[in-house]
Amino acid sequence: MIRHKDLDDPQIREVIVLGGGIAGLSAAIYLGRAQRDTLVIDSGHSMAKWEPVVENYLGFPKGVGGEELLRNGAEQAKRYDVRFVRDEIRTVSSNKSGFRLRGRKATYLTKQLLLATGIFHLPPKIPGVKQCLGHSMFFCKDCDGFRVRGKRIAIVGSTNEAVEYALGMLHYSACVIVATNGRRPSWGKRHARWLAEYEIPVERKRITDVDHRKRKIRALAFTGGNCVKTDYIFTVRGDIFHSDLARKLGAKLDGEGQIKIDVCMRTSVPGLYAAGCVTPANCQMIIAAGQGAAAAQAINRTLFEESLATHSLRRFREAQLADEKTIPERTPNVPGRKRKKG
Ligand SMILES: Cc1cc2nc3c(=O)[nH]c(=O)nc-3n(C[C@H](O)[C@H](O)[C@H](O)COP(=O)(O)OP(=O)(O)OC[C@H]3O[C@@H](n4cnc5c(N)ncnc54)[C@H](O)[C@@H]3O)c2cc1C
Repeated sequence: MIRHKDLDDPQIREVIVLGGGIAGLSAAIYLGRAQRDTLVIDSGHSMAKWEPVVENYLGFPKGVGGEELLRNGAEQAKRYDVRFVRDEIRTVSSNKSGFRLRGRKATYLTKQLLLATGIFHLPPKIPGVKQCLGHSMFFCKDCDGFRVRGKRIAIVGSTNEAVEYALGMLHYSACVIVATNGRRPSWGKRHARWLAEYEIPVERKRITDVDHRKRKIRALAFTGGNCVKTDYIFTVRGDIFHSDLARKLGAKLDGEGQIKIDVCMRTSVPGLYAAGCVTPANCQMIIAAGQGAAAAQAINRTLFEESLATHSLRRFREAQLADEKTIPERTPNVPGRKRKKG
């Protein structure tokens, strides 16, 4: 069977998906199934790897490992001829025919570009906490609140957000404290009132150590020698959005650095799309996957319209007419059914 990509310039991809995390893989599956010439470029640092058991992704009643989800997604996309390359893109530029991406290993050209580059959650600056990331140190109430029900929880932060986080955690546990880690609280009067009203303890000293065994936190040690038994830490230190390339291409970002998109995941730059946590969407796997799918559908539609405008669909059709059977055979009766006599 002739495919459109067989007739295109092999130097220029129809689509490059930058980022092979949840959003990028979902887009790749859709694009592959739409028979688009698709390359996924990924540097291999999906945040999904940090979650050993994802409990809120549709279709996995017993949970699924983040790594497993990524592995399966890549395998699924490869079934539809999507190509993958491990590289990190450093710079990007655009011209009339598309985008040029320069990576550590090679340069890539594409007509349409989807940025699914994600974010980086900043871990708290606490000695000894690194090994506990994703196991007993979390960033996201929606992802991990349910699994810490009834446990001793410390919210590390000194802002309004930290206070609201602590209040929200009361749905999951009665034992919640706020630890400012030596920072002066910057929360407002209303938030301070809430802390008092809901009787949430505040520990203002610096955390000097985290006692943990097998990635499970057991206690936090504070300056002055005070120790507080703790099972889980949540932090609200903030995120770094991987939106630099979008900014360089002139795409509009919001105040936090997230790439602004419309409902079809189009950015303000023609041909440039964004999906997943690098956009203002809530940073959840199922949302990232949905956005990736939506972006892929919009890209496919754009390429289709372009093929009509440039008559490349007609050239494709000519190849079909020359090389393939294009008219179904006529048959005297429905196959398998006997012809009625008389
Ligand atoms: C500890 C932890 C637990 C979590 N638990 C859950 C959970 O239980 N449920 C849930 O729904 N969500 C959870 N999340 C959030 C989830 O990981 C994200 O929602 C999801 O990974 C977002 O997908 P994404 O495709 O936007 O980004 P990612 O999956 O992070 O993928 C982005 C990809 O882009 C690549 N990339 C970035 N820049 C470049 C570049 N310049 N060149 C090449 N490649 C690049 C990265 O290497 C990465 O592979 C958790 C996150 C963390 C940190």
